[in-house]
Amino acid sequence: MPSLHLDGITKQFSRHTALHDLSLTVRDGEIFTLLGPSGCGKSTTLWSIAGLHRPDSGSIAFGDRVVFDHGRVNVEPEDRNCGVVFQSYAIWPHMSVAENVGYPLKLRRTPAARRDRRVREVLELVELGDHALKYPHQLSGGQQQRVALARALAHPPDMLLLDEPFSNLDAKLRDRSRQWLKALQSQVGVTTVFVTHDQDEALSFSDRVAVMNRGRVHQVGTPEEIYRYPADLFVADFVGTANLLPAEVVAADGTRARVRVEGIGTPLDVPHTDKRLGTAKVSVRPENIHIHRAGDGTGTAPDRLTVPVEGRAYLGDHHRYSIRIGGTPVAVTTTRPVDGAELTISLSPEDIRIFPVESDPYEE
Ligand code: ATP
Repeated sequence: MPSLHLDGITKQFSRHTALHDLSLTVRDGEIFTLLGPSGCGKSTTLWSIAGLHRPDSGSIAFGDRVVFDHGRVNVEPEDRNCGVVFQSYAIWPHMSVAENVGYPLKLRRTPAARRDRRVREVLELVELGDHALKYPHQLSGGQQQRVALARALAHPPDMLLLDEPFSNLDAKLRDRSRQWLKALQSQVGVTTVFVTHDQDEALSFSDRVAVMNRGRVHQVGTPEEIYRYPADLFVADFVGTANLLPAEVVAADGTRARVRVEGIGTPLDVPHTDKRLGTAKVSVRPENIHIHRAGDGTGTAPDRLTVPVEGRAYLGDHHRYSIRIGGTPVAVTTTRPVDGAELTISLSPEDIRIFPVESDPYEE
């Protein structure tokens, strides 16, 4: 299975630039997810890979085969051998499941006996072996989505391109479909590019994730890297829940920084590789705010803060409390419930990320 290289892709729609000089490398056999808010350019990227959009500049290569190069299409969409599944599965209502799945093979003039064998094989793969003769209206949404996937796999693709394929399914089925597709993908081993705006989906489904905003890539990394070490304020805010607190970096040597966080009495000494001083925001995940309980010296250390609980929610496997730190609303989560009207908390420097504030993270 080839890897995929996008280099300097720019795509303009009239006066709107949908992709700005976008470069990405997808490794052979991995599930690579494009994650970002609506309109950030995920589908445009996917469509450019499939050849359904022609970028204005840049190049696209499948392994060492350059399919598009600076405005020139070297390989037409139908010859790129991509299996594509869109949000609306677009399976043909007047064709049976087997006919739908066999259609790409028919287009390629695969002999009938071989075609039937492959259709049976691929329907077994997506666990629809008993549904070959049914029509789409006799299937559930999840089954229809599997038919679309089977069709994309019928002629073994070099690249599987999935554009929000689970978005029409309910939460439970979406979760089951994700697990099932991940297992199937590792069995087939096909290089997969997956588009979603759902961060939970991206984190649980992918080998690596590219976080996009406004036609640019902000960070590429494993789900854990993206979650634990967001590269900038946008990624910190978009992926997972982040509490963003106003702060000021008062000293920084390129390995650690001394930062005053609004509402916390004493400056914190935080690992940080940037030497810039001045106004910043610090991000801390709700589960990383330490709760001090009665009996462990509550309220005595200067870095601790005791604040009223403004809201509480039971979320099955954890509890969430709403508090304020220096006037900023903050969420704190824990698996152990806390009684009483107040929380005593502290921030552990190792769990804090510092971002210089230059602009609104949702602006360019
Ligand atoms: P969503 O999650 O909502 O599907 P997306 O991240 O996939 O969004 P794209 O569909 O790639 O975003 O669109 C990127 C930008 O390009 C958007 O501002 C969109 O309005 C614009 N755009 C996309 N396709 C076209 C088109 N055919 N003509 C004009 N503008 C377009």
